[in-house]
Parts: sequence; structure tokens; C-alpha cells
Amino acid sequence: MMKDLETVLYTEEQILARIRNMGEQLTAEYRGKFPLLVGVLKGAVMFMSDLVKRMTIPLEIDFIAISSYGTSTRSSGVVRILKDLDRDVDGRHVLIVEDIVDTGLTLAYLRDVLVRRNAASVRIAALFDKPGRRQVPIEPDYCGFTVPNAFIVGYGLDYAERYRNLPDVGILKENVYRGSDTPRT
Ligand code: 5GP
Repeated sequence: MMKDLETVLYTEEQILARIRNMGEQLTAEYRGKFPLLVGVLKGAVMFMSDLVKRMTIPLEIDFIAISSYGTSTRSSGVVRILKDLDRDVDGRHVLIVEDIVDTGLTLAYLRDVLVRRNAASVRIAALFDKPGRRQVPIEPDYCGFTVPNAFIVGYGLDYAERYRNLPDVGILKENVYRGSDTPRT
């Protein structure tokens, strides 16, 4: 799998060191608030699992799966919930845990859903941020790394469901997806 990478951006060690910092910061900010961490499937699974281990306060986790209706409707921000939360967010301090913010459409939608369900607060923790691709004004409240406008894989991030189990994160070589569906970047 490593041979399919153009370049490695962050090693597993670098990612875990950054997540450790984020966990300490979030521990301080959410102390006494019993937050509900909402992971966006599937990409955020690894980030979620490493992040919560670095948070030393009582909390709960839940997961949501979201899908866009396809590229043509992406710009409208129309997405649908494939798997909803198990927990009620009414009155809860919710932290959305996302792998990467790209256009921002998914997170804008999800944040609105959680606000409408009467969450006490809704904030966003994203491991990666691609600010150069944004279509709606939304910023993660907590961000691990800012990345260039390239298609990245590894540490939960996939291309056609592959590479999620790569421990490092890197830019995928163009020849891997040439001739098939081009990644959205
Ligand atoms: P947005 O709604 O912000 O455009 O989309 C966010 C989702 O697009 C992410 O959760 C992720 O699944 C996917 N995505 C965006 N950029 C990348 C990327 O560089 N690599 C991978 N593997 N997925 C990406």
C-alpha cells in the first residue's frame, strides 16, 4: 500500500503526538460537561478511538453515517443520514469528530441537524483540514493538521474503501485512480 503513495505527509507517530495534544486541550474544555462525541463513519473511526483514549474525563461516544446524493447534488449540500445516532442529543454538549473537512458541506449539514435537535453546544474536531477547498463558511473548532489540496489516504481515510488501515497519511499517486473514478479533489 505504501508504494501507492506519492508522498507521506504525516507518520503514525506524528499523528498520535498531535492527537495527544488535542486530547489534553479537549479534556480541559469539556471537564464537567459530560460531552457526547459523534464520530462520522467510516473515516473518523481511528481518530475517534485514539482521541477518546487521550481524554481523561467522563464522556460518551456515538456514530453517524452520512452520504451525499452524488456529485451533482453535492454543491447543494444535500446529504442523507445512512445510520443515525443512538443517543438523544437534547441538552448535550456535542463534539463532532470528523476525519477531514473539505468543501464543508457534510459538516454544515450535520451541525444544523444537531443544533435543530437542541444540543446544548455543537463543536467540530477534525484531524485534517483542507481550507482551500471550502464551499461553505465552516471551520473546525479543533484541527489536527492543515493539508494541501490533494487527495490523501491512510489512518481511516480511504480511496474506494482501501487504504483506511494504512497507519501513515499520504497523497495517493495519480496512476492509482487514473482511468477509474477520480477522487473529488
Ligand atoms: P466535505 O463535505 O467537507 O466536502 O467532505 C468531507 C468528506 O469527504 C470527508 O469526510 C471524507 O470522507 C471525504 N474527503 C474529502 N477530502 C478527502 C481526501 O483528501 N481523502 C479522502 N480519502 N477523503 C476525503
